Amino acid sequence: MSGRGNGGQEPSQRHVVIIGGGLAGMAAAEAIARHTGSQNTGSQNAGSQNAGSDTKITVLEARRVTGGRAGSFADRVRDETVDYCQHVAMGCCTNLLQLLQRTGLDAHLHRHESLTFVHPLTKPCKFAPSSLAPAPFHLAGAIGSMTFLDERQRWQVRRGMARLLRTAEKDLRGQLAGQWLREHGQDDDTIGEFWGTFAVSALGEEVDRVDMSAVRKVMVDGFAAARGASDVLVPTVPLSDLFGVRLPNQIERLGVSIRTGQAVSGLEYREGSAVLTTNSGETIHADHVISTLPWFSLDKLIANTPELSCMGAYSKISSSAITGVHLWLDREITKLPLVVLVGTVAQWLFRPPWRDSRTENGEHYYQVVISASNNWRSLSKEALVQTVMSDLRHLSKDACDARLLHSRVVTDPHSVFSIQPEVLELRPPASTPLPWFHLGGDWIDTGWPATMEGAVISGRMAAGSVASREGWDPIEIDPGLPRGTLARLLIR
Ligand SMILES: Cc1cc2nc3c(=O)[nH]c(=O)nc-3n(C[C@H](O)[C@H](O)[C@H](O)COP(=O)(O)OP(=O)(O)OC[C@H]3O[C@@H](n4cnc5c(N)ncnc54)[C@H](O)[C@@H]3O)c2cc1C
Repeated sequence: MSGRGNGGQEPSQRHVVIIGGGLAGMAAAEAIARHTGSQNTGSQNAGSQNAGSDTKITVLEARRVTGGRAGSFADRVRDETVDYCQHVAMGCCTNLLQLLQRTGLDAHLHRHESLTFVHPLTKPCKFAPSSLAPAPFHLAGAIGSMTFLDERQRWQVRRGMARLLRTAEKDLRGQLAGQWLREHGQDDDTIGEFWGTFAVSALGEEVDRVDMSAVRKVMVDGFAAARGASDVLVPTVPLSDLFGVRLPNQIERLGVSIRTGQAVSGLEYREGSAVLTTNSGETIHADHVISTLPWFSLDKLIANTPELSCMGAYSKISSSAITGVHLWLDREITKLPLVVLVGTVAQWLFRPPWRDSRTENGEHYYQVVISASNNWRSLSKEALVQTVMSDLRHLSKDACDARLLHSRVVTDPHSVFSIQPEVLELRPPASTPLPWFHLGGDWIDTGWPATMEGAVISGRMAAGSVASREGWDPIEIDPGLPRGTLARLLIR
């Protein structure tokens, strides 16, 4: 990647400029590069009837590294690269996984087929969907093994899941999840300990605020619809390495120019082409512009572009915070690589997957993730760390005795858009009324919550919008894991 130079554009070349080098921007670039065969190697997409190397693709990223929200920071005190917040994918994230396969990076995800749940009042239990029973019955035993739920709660969960499988997504849209769940026999304990455990971490928002169709997406597509959907995939290298170095390097090999340190500050349409201005004062002409800016920063960019006054006011979309609590301890507190914590402020515990927890100077690093952390905003960082430390005591005797050596609390108040009923109505498609302007970003109308999978799908949708305006072959979105006969019969 470079911070300089746009490279020469042949007079006949079409130029697609992508604003933002997060996962959406990189996915859009990769999709167009493969589709148009604009790569230098010339080995891809041999059968395409598309524009070939007549298409030039440039990604402009404001920061020094790509990856956007899926990134890392350098902890100067401990001289270590630490992810702002551990990111996990699931087996159902097929567009993300295929992007990593096509770029030869899929080996950098470690697949976990089971999860360990720890509740303060019960013994740890393992959630392991059956590898033999057909979906959705592969979950029956796993739900039965959740010993922190009593018999009555497990019965409620089975009834609620059965009802959810039989209710189409469109019939849930506009309903608050908490209300729907209560109306369908789930009490507050079951909502908190079962539905909340999965939904809050996947949606980054409280069950009482989110749309029920989003909870259905998590529970049906992410768990019930296919075996392997709920497998958890954890990067084995820091995010800044995976999405800040390896992925952009692979995409550049397709002929894409990725320019970091290039914040786009202006956008207008003049004499048949879009003109972008960067913070350094450079102007770049484009036939197509794909914005993958997040919902909270797009309005600012287009406010002074009269041609774009037809676009919505996306800053009305509310955000939800996720907090990573980074802990350096004097001892190992668990050998498990990841733990789901139920009934505590701490929700997930991760050990860095690229080594055991022990750091070079003999300390042990763990990360705790708290989704929907707006609730804890009033706590000081110190108080939050103390709360988390006391939550971890339920893990082991060593966790009770562990001494805290160093900590960092990282909260991104705009981690994800809050997937509330009214927000669903504001999510735009990738195509806009303007033939030269297209939208990507995890927040557009992908049908997914704010996730890496949603971001990759959005990038492919934006690439597809360019393809459609140019009259190229369509760019496909993977429909997800195939459903078996029973799942097709039982799930609406
Ligand atoms: C704390 C946290 C935890 C998360 N956990 C998970 C998880 O476990 N699993 C999961 O799937 N997802 C998770 N997510 C969500 C996931 O990170 C996002 O959905 C995804 O990375 C969004 O990608 P994007 O490309 O749409 O947006 P972004 O990553 O926000 O990319 C937008 C890019 O645009 C750039 N930009 C902004 N302004 C300009 C400008 N003017 N000019 C040029 N470039 C600009 C930004 O620097 C950024 O790189 C988490 C997010 C956070 C914050």
